Amino acid sequence: MLNIIKLLPDSVANQIAAGEVIQRPASAVKELLENAVDAGATNITLIVKDAGKTLVQVIDNGRGMSVVDARMSFERHATSKITKADDLFSIRTMGFRGEALASIAAIAQVEMKSKPEEDEIGTSLIIEGSKVMEQNPVQCPTGTNIAIRNLFYNVPARRNFLKSDNVENRHILDEFMRVSLIHHQIGFSYYNNDKLVNKLIPASFKSRIISLFGQTYNERMIAIEQKTDMVIISGFIGKPEFAKKTRGEQYFFVNKRYIKHAYLNHAVSSAFLELIPSDAFPSYFIHIDIDPNEIDINIHPTKTEINFKDGKLIYAILHAAVKQSIGRHTLTPIIDFDVDPSVETAFQQRPKHNPTQPQIRVNPDYNPFKTQSTAQGFHTYQKPDTDNWESLFGNVEKQEQPTSVDSVISNENKITEERVEFVQVQKSFILCTLPQGLMVIHQQRAHERILFEYFMHQLSNRKSISQQQLFPEHLQMSPEDADIVRQIMADLEGLGFILNPMGSNTFVIVGTPPEVNNPQAIIELIVENFKKESQNLTYDQNAMLARSMAVEMSVKQETELSVKEMSELYKNLFTCQVPTVSPGGKKTFLHFDKKSLTDLFI
Ligand code: ADP
Ligand code: MG
Repeated sequence: MLNIIKLLPDSVANQIAAGEVIQRPASAVKELLENAVDAGATNITLIVKDAGKTLVQVIDNGRGMSVVDARMSFERHATSKITKADDLFSIRTMGFRGEALASIAAIAQVEMKSKPEEDEIGTSLIIEGSKVMEQNPVQCPTGTNIAIRNLFYNVPARRNFLKSDNVENRHILDEFMRVSLIHHQIGFSYYNNDKLVNKLIPASFKSRIISLFGQTYNERMIAIEQKTDMVIISGFIGKPEFAKKTRGEQYFFVNKRYIKHAYLNHAVSSAFLELIPSDAFPSYFIHIDIDPNEIDINIHPTKTEINFKDGKLIYAILHAAVKQSIGRHTLTPIIDFDVDPSVETAFQQRPKHNPTQPQIRVNPDYNPFKTQSTAQGFHTYQKPDTDNWESLFGNVEKQEQPTSVDSVISNENKITEERVEFVQVQKSFILCTLPQGLMVIHQQRAHERILFEYFMHQLSNRKSISQQQLFPEHLQMSPEDADIVRQIMADLEGLGFILNPMGSNTFVIVGTPPEVNNPQAIIELIVENFKKESQNLTYDQNAMLARSMAVEMSVKQETELSVKEMSELYKNLFTCQVPTVSPGGKKTFLHFDKKSLTDLFI
């Protein structure tokens, strides 16, 4: 038999290997920019022609290379960044595989000039298809200037595979943004076909975001900050009201490396749940600084993926940090008081607790999502213990624990007897005058928020109340819907719906939550929402159930309310954790202080 196995010539092996690292001009951009960053440059220029197909050039003022290093840098597995396998666990540089320059040189015409600070004369190299064509001493500034011409000139299949200039330019811009965003202390210039696209001066992270995405981002972002022994989380998240319908600006960086991470994305998105419409995406620019020992970045050749040793913990810390920032933001502009998440004032039929004495103290630092580490290092919600809302709503009785209004009024510590005036407008909006201005409440959305938080609380505490039906209704469903009901049966019971299966896709409703008089409509809505939402990455069954209940049971627009009902609604809204938006993410009220009223008359 004939021997048919042959070793590939080096040049072919190099070209194949190169394809893994350099898929398109943008990959070369990324590798060259990262090398410049690793070289400690403070100023980096990127020059691109014809979407990188003709030229990708990066000029830096970093530490440069000696003659020997300049030659070595194009060898495969030649790197100055690690020397032994163990070093992989302490990587702080962008590169470490020593493959980028070798790969680029295999598939392009490369010209490099480089000079370290201490040398008078630099080195110029011309390499084509892995072959050194020329090497000369050259007069050049400290740093490295590397030009990649005619990418894939010797791999026509790959060259033909490239997309239109528009698409390739988009990829290049993406890479430029990812590197320049997080390395904000470095100055960057980007020229495309001789046109200056971006000139970025060294700046804070926030200023860099604004330079890249526009001035409006100044008002659109909230800072996020969380320090634990294991990680430091910092950066910015977009305010919920600016969430977009397209998955736009979502950036995670781990140790200054851009990464994609579905699980962490979930940690952020789920913190926005019920604050933004379900089809909108929050924007975020988040940096996670972590001991390199805690991660494995080596799992993917292009390195946008990453594995955390303790992903669950990072998830919990990140989720809590985002919630905390949102909480601070949604409450600060007008309301500055503490809310006890366990307060159950939201619903008439709640079980009675022993009243305790209300306490009134001022805590300007309060935020409702404040967290506290437990022994395991996990974050759990902490019950806030102080109040400071009388300054604004000084005329409403605060209920420290679930208790009747009367018991608070009879208490020595009651705040004040002064009353808020309520007027209903168009049977839909509640107008109230406050010491600090005027508030207009959207009655339906406000009630949805109140009911939503009530049911969330019920569901997570599993203490529903069910009222027996005198004349049990029969629920006849399609096989598919009946299947869904069976799947979520336990949670429906958590809400107070007791359904007895009767076979052939029929159920008897023997119990319902109190005050529910149209159980069938609610269950149908729940099944409908389950179908729509359960495939989403951010799906949260309790939230879906609570929202469905809230939407169905809320008082609607065009409904007349008594002054007492308006006052109840108002009070209950402002004991919610997030009074500012409905569970669908829409504003529940508008507030006008003296200045904003005055401004309206300009
Ligand atoms: P890696 O970055 O993974 O080490 P590269 O092939 O990208 O591998 O680069 C090989 C080596 O060449 C680097 O380790 C570094 O020592 C040197 N090098 C590359 N680019 C530059 C640069 N712009 N300035 C200084 N040294 C560089
Ligand atoms: Mg590199």
